[in-house]
Amino acid sequence: MFYTSTRDKAVKVTAAQAIAKGISSDGGLFVPAEIPKITLDDIAKISKLDYIGRAKEILKLYLTDFTEEELDMCVNSAYKAGKFSSEKVAPLHKLNDKANILELWRGPTCAFKDMALQILPYLLTVSAGKTLKDTKIVILVATSGDTGKAALEGFKDVPNTEILVFYPVDGVSPMQKLQMTTQEGNNVSVCAIHGNFDDAQSGVKSIFTNKQIEEKFKENNFAFSSANSINWGRLVPQVVYYVSAYCDMVEQGSIKLGEDINIVVPTGNFGNILAAYYAKEMGVPIKKLICASNANNVLTDFLKTGTYDRNRNFYCTSSPSMDILISSNLERLIYILSGYDADKTADYMFALAKHGKYTVDEDIHAKICECFDAGFCDDIATKDTIKEVFENYEYLIDTHTAVAVNVYNAYAKESGDNTPTVIASTANPYKFSASVLSAIETDVKSEDEFSMVEELFAKSKEPVPPQLANLKGKTPRFTRVAAKEDMAQVVFDMLGI
Ligand SMILES: *Cc1c(COP(=O)(O)O)cnc(C)c1O
Repeated sequence: MFYTSTRDKAVKVTAAQAIAKGISSDGGLFVPAEIPKITLDDIAKISKLDYIGRAKEILKLYLTDFTEEELDMCVNSAYKAGKFSSEKVAPLHKLNDKANILELWRGPTCAFKDMALQILPYLLTVSAGKTLKDTKIVILVATSGDTGKAALEGFKDVPNTEILVFYPVDGVSPMQKLQMTTQEGNNVSVCAIHGNFDDAQSGVKSIFTNKQIEEKFKENNFAFSSANSINWGRLVPQVVYYVSAYCDMVEQGSIKLGEDINIVVPTGNFGNILAAYYAKEMGVPIKKLICASNANNVLTDFLKTGTYDRNRNFYCTSSPSMDILISSNLERLIYILSGYDADKTADYMFALAKHGKYTVDEDIHAKICECFDAGFCDDIATKDTIKEVFENYEYLIDTHTAVAVNVYNAYAKESGDNTPTVIASTANPYKFSASVLSAIETDVKSEDEFSMVEELFAKSKEPVPPQLANLKGKTPRFTRVAAKEDMAQVVFDMLGI
C-alpha cells in the first residue's frame, strides 16, 4: 500500500516513509492511497482475539512494508500486560441499554493519547531504520495537554530520539502541567509558550516546513518528525480500538454481528473521530459518527453548514484538550470526500491559512451529512452531565467525556435514533479533578490539586491512578516559558546547535 499527500497527487511513499517524515513537504498530510476493507467474516474472526491480536490484524493492512516480526515487536511492546490498567486495554463500560463507554484512558498517562503514543515510538524507530540511516529523530509536539505527556512517556529514553513538547502556558489543567514538567528521561524537554494551542501547533508546523531549519538539521544529522495526529503513525493505531469496540459489542451481546452502531467522539483536532471514520470505511457497520465539541464549536458549524470559519472567539473551557480552532485532521476527511482531489484540498487549506475560512462544495457537504452528526455544549452543561451520570449510574466521567455524553443525549432525543452507541471516553476524571469535583460536590473544601484528588476519591470511591497520585510533592524540571516567535530557538537550544 502506498501513501500520498492531501495536497500533492505526485507524492507516493511507503508507510515507513510517511511515519518517519510525519508531514509531507508540501504542507499536506499523508494518507493511504486507498482504504483497506474487512468483511463481517473478518470481524467475526478478529473478535476471538485479544487486543494485541486485533491490533496486528488491522495494522498489517496499512503498514504493508513492515515485516511480520517488526509488527509483532511494535504491537507486543506497546500493549503488553501491565502497561494498561485493564487486561482488555480499551474496555467497554455498559452505561445503559443503549450507551456504552469506551474507556480509552487506561494507559500510563491516563488519557486516550496513550493508545497511539505507546506504539508510535516503535513504529517510528522501525520506520526510521528503513528510511533514515545515522540520523537522530527530533520529535516536536504541540499539545493541548494530553498529547505532550503521552508522547514524553512513550519516547523517553528511546535510543536515537529527542523529544520537545510545547504547551500553551495557561491552556492546560494543573495535573496536566505537573505531569509534563516533572517528566523524567535524558532525551526529553518541555517548554510553555505565550499563546494558545493553535499558536503552538502553527509554530511547530512552520518549523517542520522551514527549508533553512531543515538544512541546519541535515548538517547536524537530525531529522524532524511529529507525534501529533498529523502523523499517520499516530492515527492508524486509533482505528484499532474502534474495530475492537465493535467486536466487544458483539461479544457482550449488545448487538448481533452486522448490526449498526453509532460512535460519539469528543473532538478537538479531529484525529480520534477520523480514526472512527476509517473504521467505518473499512467495513465496520457504523451508522453515524457524532462529533462532540465544547464552546469552541467550529466543527459543529462546519459539519452542519459546510463552512469552516475560525474567525471567532477562542474560549478556555473545562475540557481544555478540545480547545482548538484549527482541526488539522479535517484535511484528511475533506481529501477523501472530495474524491482524493489534492488540488481542491490544497485550495481549501490555503484559504484557511489566508482568510481563516473556506466552504466545501455542495457534494462534499452532502457526503458529510450522510455520515456525521454534530453538537456542542458549554461548561455548565458539561458539569450537569458529570453530575447526572454519577448520580444515575454511579460512574465518574471527566469533562471531555461529559461533552460527548451531553451531545449524544441531545442527538438521541432530537433524532429518535436508538441505535446502540459507543461513546469514546478520552481521559481519566482525576486529570481534571477541580472541574469534576465541583460538578458532583456543591461544597468543595479543598483548594490545592491533591486535596481535590483526595476529596474526589472520598466522594466517588473511584480509584486514583497511582501515576497521578505519585506526582504529589514532585519538583518541576522544566520551567521555561517562551514567546511563540522563539519556538525555533528553543529547539536549537535543546539540541545545542
Ligand atoms: C486530545 C484529546 C481530545 C481530542 O482528540 P482529537 O483527536 O484531537 O479530536 C479529547 N479529549 C481528550 C481528553 C484529549 O486528550
